[in-house]
Amino acid sequence: MVNGTEYPPVLTSQQESELLFALKDWALTHGLVIRSSSANASAEQTESSALATPVPLTLFPSPYPKSLLQHARSIQPLFNDLYVKIADDLPFLDAITANLAKVDTFSKDLYRIYKEVEAEGGPGQDLSLGIFRSDYLLHSNNHDDDDNDDGSGSVSLRQVELNTIAASFMGLSSRASDLHRFLHAAGYYPEGNILSRDADLPENPAARQIARGLGLAAQAYGVKESIVLFIVQPGERNAFDQRWLEYHLLNDFKIRVARASLDDAFSRATVDPETKVLRYDGDEVSVVYYRSGYSPDDYPTPNSWQARKKLELSKAIKSPSLATQFAGAKKVQQVLVDDSVLSNYVDGESKTLISDTFTEILPLDNSDKGQRARELIATRPQDFVLKPQREGGGNNVYKEKIPEFLKSLGDEELWKGYILMELIKPPSDAQNSIVRAGEVKSAQVISELGIYGIVLWDSKTHQVKQNFEAGWLVRTKFADSEEGGVAAGFGSIDSLVLV
Ligand code: ADP
Ligand code: MG
Repeated sequence: MVNGTEYPPVLTSQQESELLFALKDWALTHGLVIRSSSANASAEQTESSALATPVPLTLFPSPYPKSLLQHARSIQPLFNDLYVKIADDLPFLDAITANLAKVDTFSKDLYRIYKEVEAEGGPGQDLSLGIFRSDYLLHSNNHDDDDNDDGSGSVSLRQVELNTIAASFMGLSSRASDLHRFLHAAGYYPEGNILSRDADLPENPAARQIARGLGLAAQAYGVKESIVLFIVQPGERNAFDQRWLEYHLLNDFKIRVARASLDDAFSRATVDPETKVLRYDGDEVSVVYYRSGYSPDDYPTPNSWQARKKLELSKAIKSPSLATQFAGAKKVQQVLVDDSVLSNYVDGESKTLISDTFTEILPLDNSDKGQRARELIATRPQDFVLKPQREGGGNNVYKEKIPEFLKSLGDEELWKGYILMELIKPPSDAQNSIVRAGEVKSAQVISELGIYGIVLWDSKTHQVKQNFEAGWLVRTKFADSEEGGVAAGFGSIDSLVLV
């Protein structure tokens, strides 16, 4: 990522083994861990669930232009505002989601619950909490002009997606920055020009800032002794990432947390028919925070769907509401690339700052754009990724596999559930080492920066009560891997050294 500089520093085998040992012990000491895949996944509370292992990590922080980190952080409140407006534009979301429901079973199920909630009077709470994460890759403008290959070309931020539900890793991300800062300060890195003694390895406030978002929402709900309910996947391996939020909430706000799967919520949560107050095991719930509910697998039984509906109808503040979850659909991202749609929500300099991060995204419908998408797939599939309406990694189809995949769907109507996105081309000169399951591998890497955003607003009056940027996540993957998800097994957690 930094031209003309050797990075990361070369280590002797003794230096490397000492560094590795220090990294693993620090990770275990500070909860930079994930539940072992060998641990009993079906019960969080069994003894074998005490088995944890360091999360996949980079050995070194990744060099990143300071100005681009600052820029990405500074535009997050604009994205927060934009997605509030979209989440509140119910006719717009209704039209998009109703169309998706025709071709995608998961969208159909979510939409059905949404309509049932609407028929029963709508969500029992006007306040809504967004815990967003806008993900970016650096695009190297060199790739746009093959004659200019002197390595000095500029890079810019391009948005991969904006997550409105279950954006994760804020806990581990803050710890990863602490880890690299420790390794640097304790002298485990040989001093090089990027990792000089006064190198800038920023502290990452993500865990504490997201907890602050939850805490401020709970305070806005305004009932002393109420709790925050985390809706989680049964046997969640990434529970430690979530625990950090729980610890900060208790520490900084004196607010307790309960953890429940959707099926737990079905059997143990109640909603008062008059006041719509949500209680879990008797405790009043101020905020429902979803770290589950974004994938069809999260709804294993009809009861889990009923639980989602019950929570939505309740007076608790949801993060996110169903409407806010819909706003994060990949289809919405595609439609927003159209200037005439984006202009409905934002104008002037804000619009430019937002749209400057966009990449071409096309629908696969019967419109002119849909025709163009078909031509591009036929002529240069290597420049595109095809995405369904899913979250959580491992769902996309890349490059030359796209035509065959679409053909395998059979009915062209089903193509409408997908979007076609131009591939962002990151600089190809970054190297790092990834430590996964104790093994170190060094190769060319690509880093994806995610910026968290918190926004608390009234969805009826559209009044925004809190809107702030809330730290970041860096995930680094090997350049030869198409996906970057850590939980899905492709990437690692990283931090930044600013250059
Ligand atoms: P998910 O909702 O599954 O996280 P994403 O849209 O984030 O889906 O895509 C998953 C991964 O695929 C990203 O983290 C990134 O590594 C890669 N990817 C997605 N879109 C692009 C793109 N336009 N250019 C390059 N890589 C991409
Ligand atoms: Mg993603």
